[in-house]
Amino acid sequence: MSKTLVFGHQNPDTDTITSALVMADFLKAQGVEAEAVAFAEPSSETNYALEHFQIDAPRVVETVANETSRVALVDHNEPQQSAPDIQDVTITHVIDHHRVSGFETTDPLYMRVEPVGCTGTILNKMFKEQGFEVTKESAGLMLSAIISDTLLFKSPTNTPEDEAAAKELAKIAGVDLKDYGLNLLRAGTNLGEKSDDDILNADAKNFDMHGKNVRIGQVNVIGFDEIQQREAAILQLMNDQLSENGYDLFALIITDVLESDSYSLVVGEDLSAFESAFAKKVTDHKVDLPGVVSRKKQIVPPLTNAYE
Ligand code: MN
Ligand code: MN
Repeated sequence: MSKTLVFGHQNPDTDTITSALVMADFLKAQGVEAEAVAFAEPSSETNYALEHFQIDAPRVVETVANETSRVALVDHNEPQQSAPDIQDVTITHVIDHHRVSGFETTDPLYMRVEPVGCTGTILNKMFKEQGFEVTKESAGLMLSAIISDTLLFKSPTNTPEDEAAAKELAKIAGVDLKDYGLNLLRAGTNLGEKSDDDILNADAKNFDMHGKNVRIGQVNVIGFDEIQQREAAILQLMNDQLSENGYDLFALIITDVLESDSYSLVVGEDLSAFESAFAKKVTDHKVDLPGVVSRKKQIVPPLTNAYE
């Protein structure tokens, strides 16, 4: 039997990378040969966590069917966010906290999707249920994922369960939750090191919204000044990639992680869905989204509804 490959979504964020590592450990504790992989190198935020706890990044792969027939998915389930050859392998597990869309399998599987703020929160619970030891390293990884996904509990996706898990994990990991959390979030906001394409695509996801092909990126910043200097170049790139890839809509959500505020750049043939989703006029391909921080909860549902 081939080794189970464990991975999260394309354009990996901290939850995707760390949950793949922790889920691989969970499967190994159950006697399953498993390895975490990823579809790209970790972001600067994720690298901060990996370096802090001295853990190697998962091996980067492009496809999976060339080396295994069995895979476990974390932090996603939508096929267009997964391995490009996901149809050619057997999915044995899904551990996720997103909407379920376009997902089906031919074989039975272990599928656990909970409406919490982070995959790490679910994994922590799974370790405890099985009586598996949570090491300092695993605790640090799960903690980092929770901080990242909930923006240190300020996102509307945060739940009391995430916060309780983070407090418990911070103790095991031996870090001060607030200090470590702010440092982790800050590590992800350094735009100076990022190309325009990184800013646009490093955290972008594709969504099928009633037949429309919608791509939504998100970048974390502290203050909007620096990104505003680069808006014209980013908008140009968005237009190029929109026509190259045939997207109906391409939006970049720019989120100030300390102020919990966003604005969006948006391009596409018809921006009326975006306008009606947020009851705002798009002016010069820009729209303010005050108080919005969560793509999953505050962007995708209203936009999907607007396309209905
Ligand atoms: Mn994710
Ligand atoms: Mn997540």
